[in-house]
Amino acid sequence: MIKLRNITKQYPTEPLPTLDGLDLEISADDLIGLYGASGSGKSTLLRILGLFDFDYEGELHFDGSKIDVENHAMITTIRREKIGFIFQDFKLISDKTVKENLEWVCILSKIPKKHIKRSINRAFFRVSLSQNMLDKYPHQLSGGQQQRVAIARTLLKSPQFIIADEPTGALDQSTKSEILSLIKSLKIPCIIATHDLETQPYCTRILYIHSGKLHDTHKDKAP
Ligand code: ADP
Ligand code: MG
Repeated sequence: MIKLRNITKQYPTEPLPTLDGLDLEISADDLIGLYGASGSGKSTLLRILGLFDFDYEGELHFDGSKIDVENHAMITTIRREKIGFIFQDFKLISDKTVKENLEWVCILSKIPKKHIKRSINRAFFRVSLSQNMLDKYPHQLSGGQQQRVAIARTLLKSPQFIIADEPTGALDQSTKSEILSLIKSLKIPCIIATHDLETQPYCTRILYIHSGKLHDTHKDKAP
């Protein structure tokens, strides 16, 4: 469903390309763990996949269509409606309640007003949060609860693909596994950039970035 063809990305301030001729195909049943040392280019690759960065060489295809970097309408539609994002720092709006955070995304995603309550309740159910969390502010929740809210937020738009940049980076050990189980249970193709070895058992496939190159390990075929 997503194809990268010969992607090369060099920041003007860097002596070498951060990504050097990457090829990758992501299919509908993939849950990818993206590994690599700090500074190896994981977030750079996720920003390209998430249609936030177009300053690269090569081609990106989404559902059979080549991403045309000049076609802002296409890009906005795919990013808003088809791709879900999960971040290390949750990115909840701190002066809005959980419910207001979620309503805001419903409005941006053009969910009809009469369906907003039902959509929020459904998303909350999928991430196993109780309704009494809705009126709390983000700082009144634990890290794991905030990440569940962030995942509920991304589910509101029924994403076809989820991009998670260090989703467990701010969580303690047992909360990490809860969040990873939750991500796996969604059954939505996903790429998770991470340092955590603990993420590996949840993945169907492990990728490593090193010196601008991508090394692909299909776990099932690994020796
Ligand atoms: P990772 O997520 O694996 O830690 P990044 O993708 O953030 O790695 O960074 C990869 C490399 O690109 C690093 O050397 C970093 O300094 C550089 N880099 C990242 N973002 C920028 C930027 N906006 N401008 C210049 N260099 C950048
Ligand atoms: Mg990073």
